[in-house]
Amino acid sequence: HVLATGKIVSRTLCIANQKGGVGKTTTSINLASGLATAGHSVLLVDMDPQCNATSGLGLEPAKQHPLITNTPIRHSVLATDVEGLDVLPGSGSFRDADTLANSDQTATEIVVEHLRSGALIYDYVLIDCPPSLGTLTRAALAASNEVVLPIQCEYFAMEGLTQMIGVIKEVMLERPGELTFGGIVLTMYDESLELTAEVDADLRQFFGEVVFDTVIPRDVHVAEAPSHGLSVLDYAPRCRGSRAYTELCMEILERD
Ligand code: ADP
Ligand code: MG
Repeated sequence: HVLATGKIVSRTLCIANQKGGVGKTTTSINLASGLATAGHSVLLVDMDPQCNATSGLGLEPAKQHPLITNTPIRHSVLATDVEGLDVLPGSGSFRDADTLANSDQTATEIVVEHLRSGALIYDYVLIDCPPSLGTLTRAALAASNEVVLPIQCEYFAMEGLTQMIGVIKEVMLERPGELTFGGIVLTMYDESLELTAEVDADLRQFFGEVVFDTVIPRDVHVAEAPSHGLSVLDYAPRCRGSRAYTELCMEILERD
């Protein structure tokens, strides 16, 4: 991203929600792929010990997470088949409890420093967070300029949201001016359900502009793509899910 002054500015976005199964990893993979396809250099960081973002792009998790080793991250990144897209692989041993015990401030700062060094190399750094509000998610928030919240339009969608937003606000207070609310994206959207429309309307009434116009439809191609090691954009470029993720990329680029 080039400013009028000619200065190149990188953006770090974390995709977070303490609930599992809301589409964090899917959104991370497909946004990363979409931004790379649009010509940007992108690093996708897998912070979840389940390593779905890593395996979903056909890559192997690391034994030890690169964020807690002394290796510069440029030595730990893996290239993907998508031009411009690299992945910092996740590791099953990278867990809140053992790795960053007792919210060890030093360990958190090391993670943040590593993530920030990624921002010096790439146009976009996207972080796929674990389904928790623990130290890993806090470190990801602390290293980010924007947080994107995927929300599934279901009955309990709002549950836990207050807690999530509370943690985001804490990080914002700890690091004034560094983190902003990137937006809420509605995932697995099923317009045939009355409930979907209700949750959609509630969220837009409450959060207004923060909710992205683009919604991600429930689409089987989106769910199938990771088993082929591909983003849905490469697996089924013309399906509804692909088109939606491409539109979401454009909204994110416009919000820059
Ligand atoms: P999280 O990372 O928040 O746990 P995932 O991205 O892994 O959530 O998504 C949970 C499940 O829902 C996965 O099996 C994924 O393939 C599926 N899924 C996500 N988005 C869609 C979609 N738009 N349409 C159909 N299935 C989806
Ligand atoms: Mg996930």
